[in-house]
Amino acid sequence: MKVLISADMEGTCGVVSWVQVTPPEYADAGEPVAADRYLRTRERMTAEVNAAIEGALAGGADEVIVNDSHDGMRNLLPEQLHPAVRFITGNDKPLGMMQGVDLAGVGAVFYTGYHAKAGTPAAPLAHTWTGWLNDVRLDGVSTGEFGINAAVAGYFGVPVVLVTGDDKAVAQTRALLGEQVAGAVVKEGISTFSALHHHPEKSRQVIREAAEAAMGNVASASPYLLPPGASVELEFDHQARADQAVLVPGVVRTGERAVSWIAPNGRDFILTFRAVMKCAGIRMSP
Ligand SMILES: [Zn+2]
Repeated sequence: MKVLISADMEGTCGVVSWVQVTPPEYADAGEPVAADRYLRTRERMTAEVNAAIEGALAGGADEVIVNDSHDGMRNLLPEQLHPAVRFITGNDKPLGMMQGVDLAGVGAVFYTGYHAKAGTPAAPLAHTWTGWLNDVRLDGVSTGEFGINAAVAGYFGVPVVLVTGDDKAVAQTRALLGEQVAGAVVKEGISTFSALHHHPEKSRQVIREAAEAAMGNVASASPYLLPPGASVELEFDHQARADQAVLVPGVVRTGERAVSWIAPNGRDFILTFRAVMKCAGIRMSP
């Protein structure tokens, strides 16, 4: 059985600021960057992924594939990855953070470096997908990336069994998907930009142990299935984004900053979601 790791960055031990997770080339877009601090996070992110790989292999996985799931999706340091892994990098993948879940033999998903959903108090860098999406409701339930990606994995019949990140990210994932998800808390959120962290070495140990335990949950774990015809509701930070989101066929305006559509299944959901986000991701001072 293969394990797919969806590796995000904000939930890595030591991370409390956007400059720690922003690639230097984003300076061209006017974002503050700090190349040295970003590199340190890449190293720690890669080491945490390796801890999850070690746990997966110890727990009986035949193969582990990791999908770089943060921002430009070129964050993992290939030479420093566990030699047993194959890895997916690069942006604009059809399934986004879940790319690879459709590969033959994938039977479980791990989330590493995950963060809480937009609006969560005392949760480092809490957001959903981008900085300008205030809320996502799937079938009426407010959720974050952990829920969005679980619905995609569910379509392919694959359950999520591990989440690593801050305490709120772990709690929200387990609240949605249940106790089948082993949790590894690497930091306790104090505010959006502060946390109490484990030492990086201790974080990796906690992740390794949780990953091995997660493998024991795979046989009895359930995929998260969106009911057919589930509603998807998005609320943006600005009406201008909703103006453009409705360019996607089937998407309707439901409020000043809100749009909605009906998703036949988890795969259609993510494809439409990505199209909506592309349309809504406009420059706010054109
Ligand atoms: Zn991220």
